[in-house]
Amino acid sequence: MARPRQALRVGLGYDIHRLEPGEALFLAGVRVPCPYRAVAHSDGDVVLHALCDALLGALAAGDLGEHFPDTDPAHQGRASSEFVAEILAMEVMQHYRIGNIDVNIIAQAPRLGDHKAAMRINLARLFALPLDCVGLKARTNEHCDSVGEKRAIQAQAVVLLEARTRPRATTALTRRRRVGTEHEPATMRLAPKPPRSRRETRDSR
Ligand SMILES: [Zn+2]
Repeated sequence: MARPRQALRVGLGYDIHRLEPGEALFLAGVRVPCPYRAVAHSDGDVVLHALCDALLGALAAGDLGEHFPDTDPAHQGRASSEFVAEILAMEVMQHYRIGNIDVNIIAQAPRLGDHKAAMRINLARLFALPLDCVGLKARTNEHCDSVGEKRAIQAQAVVLLEARTRPRATTALTRRRRVGTEHEPATMRLAPKPPRSRRETRDSR
């Protein structure tokens, strides 16, 4: 008999990129105009890279470097949102839905306060989650170390996965992009006892 899937799985991710003079950083898939750019093979999005590793960690399915090696020219300059989409489409992932995600961005520069709302909304879109399941905090490194000296930017992420009662059908993958903050309001997740039909709808997300 097949071993039953764990009801809950947690994953942890971390990333760091060096900064160099430039015009913008990509964070959570959002272009943040600033006098820096990330030194990276792809777009250097520390938030999405940390989240990808957290997802892969929760699935015990390796790490970002194994799936998208930076020695492969095919990944040169790629948008990290494509890495997210590919991981979410993995067969093993179809047995789970994401419960919530939480991110720390550690950057002395640029200041991210004005961009946090846009980053959360974009994460909700990319991971097909209601906004109240997306945590995002930004802080400085108190001028300590490379991050504090504005030579690097870091992100940390955790992801909680919940086993689905039935694996998601492949056709549901094409619907994923339509589910977002508009289509699945936060209140739906907060409802104490959703009717059976709604629970099934959520499970096929
Ligand atoms: Zn990275």
